[in-house]
Amino acid sequence: MVKVQHVKVDDNVFVLTGKDAGKTGKVLSINRATGRIIVEGVNIVTKHQRPDMRLGTGGIVRKEAGIDASNVMVVCPNCKRPSKTGRKFEANGDKVRFCKACSATIDTIRKGSK
Ligand SMILES: [Zn+2]
Repeated sequence: MVKVQHVKVDDNVFVLTGKDAGKTGKVLSINRATGRIIVEGVNIVTKHQRPDMRLGTGGIVRKEAGIDASNVMVVCPNCKRPSKTGRKFEANGDKVRFCKACSATIDTIRKGSK
C-alpha cells in the first residue's frame, strides 16, 4: 500500500510534471495499491482495440492513464492556487485538511467528538 493522503476523489488538482504539466483536472479515482490517480483529461492514452463486431466495440479508445499522486498539488478552493495541504485539529475536535498558502479549511476529514 502507498499512502495517498494529500488528494481525494473530486479534488481539483494541478499537474506538476509529465506531458500534461500545468493542466488542472478533477481526481476521478485513486489507486491506493499503486499510489496512482486518474485525473480527468490528464495523461490521455489512445489504445487500439481489435474491433469486436459482436459487441460493436473496438477501434481507437481514448482513456485516462494514471499518474503518480505525488505529481499533483491540490488547487485550493479558496485561493485558487495549487497549494500544499496540511492536516490539523480544530477547536471542536474536527480533523480538517487546510491550505498551507491561505490557511483556509478545505474539508473535514473526521468529525470531532466535541
Ligand atoms: Zn488557499
